[in-house]
Parts: sequence; C-alpha cells; structure tokens
Amino acid sequence: MSLVLAALLLSAASAGAPPAPSKADPRKKEAAIASIDAQCADLVSLADQVWGFAETALRETRSAALLAGHAEKHGFRVERGVAGMPTAFVATFGQGRPVIAVLGEYDALPGLSQKAVPERAVLKEGAPGHGCGHNLFGAASLGAAIAVKDLIAAGKLTGTVRFYGTPAEEAVGGKVYLTRDGLFRDVDAVLAWHPDDKTQADTEGGQAVVDLMVEFHGRTSHAAFDPWNGRSALDAAELFTHGVNMMREHVKPSVRMHYVIPDGGDVPNVVPDHAKVWIWARDFERKGVADVLDRLRKVAEGAALMAGVTEKVTVQSGDYEMLVNQAGARLLDANLRRLDPVTYTPEEQAFARALQKSAGVEPVGMDASIGPLEGQEKEGGSTDVGDVSWNAPTLHVSVVTAPRGVPWHAWPVVAAGGMSIGHKGMVLAAKTLATTMVDLFDDRAALAAVRAEFAAKTKGFVYQPFVPDGPPPVPKAE
Ligand SMILES: [Zn+2]
Repeated sequence: MSLVLAALLLSAASAGAPPAPSKADPRKKEAAIASIDAQCADLVSLADQVWGFAETALRETRSAALLAGHAEKHGFRVERGVAGMPTAFVATFGQGRPVIAVLGEYDALPGLSQKAVPERAVLKEGAPGHGCGHNLFGAASLGAAIAVKDLIAAGKLTGTVRFYGTPAEEAVGGKVYLTRDGLFRDVDAVLAWHPDDKTQADTEGGQAVVDLMVEFHGRTSHAAFDPWNGRSALDAAELFTHGVNMMREHVKPSVRMHYVIPDGGDVPNVVPDHAKVWIWARDFERKGVADVLDRLRKVAEGAALMAGVTEKVTVQSGDYEMLVNQAGARLLDANLRRLDPVTYTPEEQAFARALQKSAGVEPVGMDASIGPLEGQEKEGGSTDVGDVSWNAPTLHVSVVTAPRGVPWHAWPVVAAGGMSIGHKGMVLAAKTLATTMVDLFDDRAALAAVRAEFAAKTKGFVYQPFVPDGPPPVPKAE
C-alpha cells in the first residue's frame, strides 16, 4: 500500500460518521413529503380499492385501470397495454434526462380472500386476496411518482419521472416481459419497494428462479387386461421426482427445488399416457439455477428412458436474483432514517398481536425499527424486479406492513394490508421513494455514483431472460 493511500484511508477513518450520501436540497425533500401527506387519503383509497378488487396475474383489469386513470388525472401521459400485457402501463411526466422510474405492482394471490380482521374470516369464498401487499405496493409507488411530478411541474426538478404499472409478479413475471422488450433501456435508475414484516434498505438480492413444466407422454392400455402394452407417463413422473429428491443431497445448500404434480393420469384402471410435473428451482445466483436446470433436463430424460416414454421440458419463466446497488441503498437508508418513524395505536398493536398469536409466533406487536444496512441475511424468495435490476440500476427498500413473523402469502398479510397498519407502511414507503428520487434528480453526483456501480457490476453481462420467445401468456377474457 502506498503511503499516500494509507494516509487517505486514515483520514477517511478518522472523519467519523460517513458523509451524507446526497447533497440534494432538503427543501425539495420536504416538499415531496408534504405532497405525500396531502395525497394520503387518495393513496389509502387506491390501496383499499385494489385490495377489494384482488385480481390475479394478468387479470388485474380494474386495478390497472384505477392506477392508470389516477396517474392521468395528475397529468401523466399514460401508455397502456405495453409489452403485450393489457394490464401493464407506463405513466410519464416531464422530459429529458435523467429518467427516473418507480415500479408498482397490483396482482393478488388465488384463494386468499380474507376480511381486514385479525382472525381467519373469508370475505368471498374461493376468491383471491392480497397476501403479498401488492395493493399497497402500487399505490405507494404512484404516490411517490406524483410527489416528484409536482416538483418537476413547479420547475424545482428537471427530467422525467415514470411510473411502471407492472402486472403479474406472482405468476408469469410481468417485469421480465417489460425488460425483455426494452422498456427500461433509456432509464437512468429504477426504484422499487416491497411490503414486509421489517423495514430496511435492501442490500441482499434474494434468489434467482426458473419455472419448468416437465411433461411425459406414454402409451395407454387397460391397466389389468394388457398392461404390458402400456407405457406409463405417471411412472416417468414418479421416477423424475425421485431423481429430483436424490439430487437434493448433491446440490449446494443454497439450492431450493419444489414441485407439484398437476397431472398424474385420470383413473387407476387406465395406464396414463400423460403426466405433468411443475417444478421451480432456485439459487442465490442465476448461474446456480442454470446448472440445476441442466441437471433437471437430464433427470427428465433418464426418467423417460426408464419408463419407455418421451419427455418434454418447457421453461415457462424465471427471474434473475436482484443486483444490489449499494450506493442506492445508502440513499434509501439515509432517507428512511430522516423520516418520522411510524407509530402505532394500541388498537393496531392489539390487531398485530392477535395475528401473531394465530400464527403461533411471539405476540410482540408491530416493530417500526429500521434494520441496518450491514449484515443483512440472505433470504429465500424471488422477484421479477431481479430482471429489471440487471438492466438498469435498481434501488430497493422493504417497509413494514404486517407484524413480524406472520406467514407471507397467507391471510394475516391480507388482513393487515387492508387496514391502517398496511396504510402506514404504504405512506412511509411513498415518502422514502419520493425523497430518494429527489436525491437522484437533484444531486447528479449521487445518480452518477449509482450508475457507475451498476456499470462496474454489469461489465460484460448479457441478459438472457428465462421467459420463452413470443407474447406473454395473457388469459382469455372471461
Ligand atoms: Zn410480492
């Protein structure tokens, strides 16, 4: 190490607390926060309506129309039906660089219908529910975009703000199609958040995933009269899943493989000539997923060979792991800590504790503390924001909208996301996103640092989305 470098490191170490990551004008941030406060009733109304619509992947017709219409009402130019998805849209305000985007989701999960009460109570039998808080996700992000739009309209910021209405996060992966079709190509930075049971600027990237359908085709026969003439597709499916389960010992501990069998034949007295295994494989990096995918193809081939049938492996979709932007995370973290912390009423705490009791976790109530940037745990789970993050610098924050420890993708999250606990998280998320966008617009050095980190981390990267060629699988209207 040179003496000069040593001296520099020493002076940095002795300077104490790290310098503020942004020199943006604090008055502009105050204006953004005031805009969110003024929008509060609107945002609660949007979130509650989307919560009530509870529409699943690529069926989010009313949710998308509501949010797109709201953007239009606030002066955004809205392009609907982008990337071949009728429920995807881009709302734009302003012109020129920088182009700062914020993502909004609004799809629900099947079968999770639940009232906004702290015990299991179905709102509509068999209907979907917002078990991942995406009703809050879309509304908060749109609120942040409107706050920034207000500043651009007032001549206090220059550039373009975009809200991306991104459908089908829970299935299909709407953002993968948006990314594949180049909708983020001219974007300088992207912001996103996700409802959570904790609050932090995220510095770990989740998992990459691939979604496969493995089909077997055999020859049917009477199962008792002439089974020797049959070749069972179900046998192959069983051999395949057995192979997968044997593989588990010989993959990295970070790999996850999970499957269901949507088709195992029709009746026992007919040798099944068709069977289907739907399987997902994950790892913390895309490379690991690609390796497992190669091996799964071979297991399917071997299973087909043993059973005397044919196999067909179809990659349906998949996500990259999130490429973390540390410079961006520092901006988010600084803003989170600068904002007024969320406080909860005794009624809200009682609601939270009741949810925790029903989930069998410690009834400690809501926790509004902000987690540290350093030492975050790697967590399981994937998001199609991952694909965006490899194509444009992406800043991601988690904000508490449900009590710690309750199961996600389950009714307690639907309940909390339909009442004030969820609303408070939504407002904090909107303020965090809006103030961080002010950083990127107002402090070009902060934006340059975010972009330089992205450029360094994606040097030589070639994007290869897991989704098949052709249009997204939009369901037919009912
Ligand atoms: Zn989600």
